[in-house]
Order: sequence, then structure tokens, then C-alpha cells
Amino acid sequence: MKAGVLYGKQDFRIEERPRPSAGPNQLVVKIEYAGICGTDVEFYKIGMVPAPLPMVLGHENVGTVVEVGEGVTDFKVGDRILCGPPSACEQMCPSCRRGETNVCIYGFPKTAGIGGPDGGFAEYFLVRDVAHTMLVKIPDNVDPKDAVLFDVICVSLHGVRKSRFKVGDNVVVSGTGPIGLAAIQFLKVGGANKIIALGTNSEKEPLLKKYGADYFINARECKDIGNEIKKILGSPVGADVVFECAGNMESLSNCIYQCVKPGGQVVVLGTIQEPMNIVPGSFSIFEPDIQFSFVYTEEEVRIYLDMLAAGKISFPGMVTDIISLDECVEKGLDRKDRRGQLKILINPNL
Ligand SMILES: [Zn+2]
Ligand SMILES: [Zn+2]
Repeated sequence: MKAGVLYGKQDFRIEERPRPSAGPNQLVVKIEYAGICGTDVEFYKIGMVPAPLPMVLGHENVGTVVEVGEGVTDFKVGDRILCGPPSACEQMCPSCRRGETNVCIYGFPKTAGIGGPDGGFAEYFLVRDVAHTMLVKIPDNVDPKDAVLFDVICVSLHGVRKSRFKVGDNVVVSGTGPIGLAAIQFLKVGGANKIIALGTNSEKEPLLKKYGADYFINARECKDIGNEIKKILGSPVGADVVFECAGNMESLSNCIYQCVKPGGQVVVLGTIQEPMNIVPGSFSIFEPDIQFSFVYTEEEVRIYLDMLAAGKISFPGMVTDIISLDECVEKGLDRKDRRGQLKILINPNL
């Protein structure tokens, strides 16, 4: 079978490997789609993963079970499943005991496609430890192209659930990529009053409005974001809850200094890899509550699939390209026109 393997910095190769077979407590899944995540692009750029290289990338996977190992009772051949980060760890750490597997102290580096060695950028994918991997059956009426978006959309779902957002709140969502778009939709479904999207690409305005944003502010062009928000809200103060979904310091700084009302909440969904350049004393006098949010739980993946199956949410336009394994670098990991792209999927059968 073909597999996409990361060897090092900008060294990603498509190679021929033997098709895996399932040992005890294992499954083999024929991959239908694997999503390319920002994390994969980062791994490719820096040539590092939380595991020894080489490694098959791909942690956003959907496919069909084709082989079931001895001792597996929850799955059978033909089941359509998605495969995410590990579920509860073997050690049952304090986080996992509380059901907060997203902050498991052992789990994240064990995720297939992140902590190695097998990922979904391949025709077949070996689930090495069924009991400790997030495997969820996909409802029959859910399109696999929607199911595979779980990794990005559940980040938004978790962030909104982690927040103290309530019906009727005015909100700002900073960042207009897939996480920002999905957050907008959940806030709309959740009954937000005014939803203001803050971004740097005005071409996205129609899509943002389709997802539920009432207003769009271009953060690069607007001279006084704080004042513009107050004008929209018809209020001397900013939004009740603000969601940072862009993953950079400029956005976080806007959220804290320009967007949130005194005593309001900023929820940080983006993974910001820059040093903090904010001065706590300059905003602590307004007592904003700053809440970090990290990935999602299996329960939230199930909620996502249920809501999709019931038609309560939909993500039109989210998948902007479907590519083959051979196109993985040029049209995926090293794509030049990234700005116009939302989610790129790999179909290993192309
Ligand atoms: Zn991801
Ligand atoms: Zn744990």
C-alpha cells in the first residue's frame, strides 16, 4: 500500500509499505479521507513530531473497518468509523478519571499520526490499541467528508462549551479559518445575540455571514476595532464573550484590549506559538476572565456526529480541496495558496 511518511524537515515521502494486519485488540481501517491539519503543516516545516521519525502523518481519519483482531468486540468489518486522539489512558490519570481526556497527562503524544508510528495518510491504517484510541462509529446518514472535519470542528465545540457563553450574549470571534467559522455556527445555534467576526481577509465575509456572523470587521483595515464593536453593539462596552480562533498574538491582544467588556470572558482556542507580549497590569483592572481551551473529548465528537446526523449543523464550503497521496506536498503540506483554503482532505484511493 501507499503511505505518506515524514522523514524530517520538509522531507516527506510517498512509499510502498506492506498492508498492516490486525493483531489482538487491533483493527485495520481502509482510509476514506484523512484531513490535513495545521499541526501536520507545522510538523512538515520543522521536521519534528512528538515521536521518533520516520512516521506516517494523519490524525484526522475516517474509513471502514476491514479487519478485526482477536478480542475486539465493539467493531466489526464494514463499520464506518472515525479515529481521533487516544481516549482514556491506561494509567487512568486524574484528568482521564474526570473524563477530561483532552488534558490527559500521557495521552496526546500517543495520538496516531502525532505520536506515531501510524497515521491516516495511507491506504490502510492500523489501530494499535483499540481500548485507548478514540474510535467512533459514523451514523449512516453522515457524509464522511463532514465526519472527517471532527478534529477542527470539535475544537470549536469544546471552546464554546468551555466558555460561559449563554443565550443572548454578544460575542466576537477573532479568526476566520475553520475553527472560527465552526465557532460562529455553534454560537448561532446556541442563541447568541450579535455575532461579530474579526478577521484579515474581507473575501471571507460572505461565508462568515452564511455560517451565522452578523457583522464582519477587517482587523487590518479598521482604525479602531474597540470603537467599531461598541458602535455595532450600541453599548459603551465590548462583547460578553470573545473567542480567539486565529492562533496569533495580534488576535489575542485584540481580543483582550479591544473586544471584551470589563468582566467579560476571552476564550483562547487557537494554539499560539509566540511569546506573550501583553502586560497583565494593563487589563487586569477590567477583570476579564481568560480561559484556555485545548482540543476536545470523545463525548464532544459524539455530540458533533449526532448534531450532523440530525441536520442541526452543516459546514458547506469547509472542504476546499480533495487531493491524492501523491499530491500531498505540493497541494497540501507545502501549498502556496493556503490563504484561500479551509480544509484540504486526502483521499488515498485517488
Ligand atoms: Zn488536527
Ligand atoms: Zn490520562
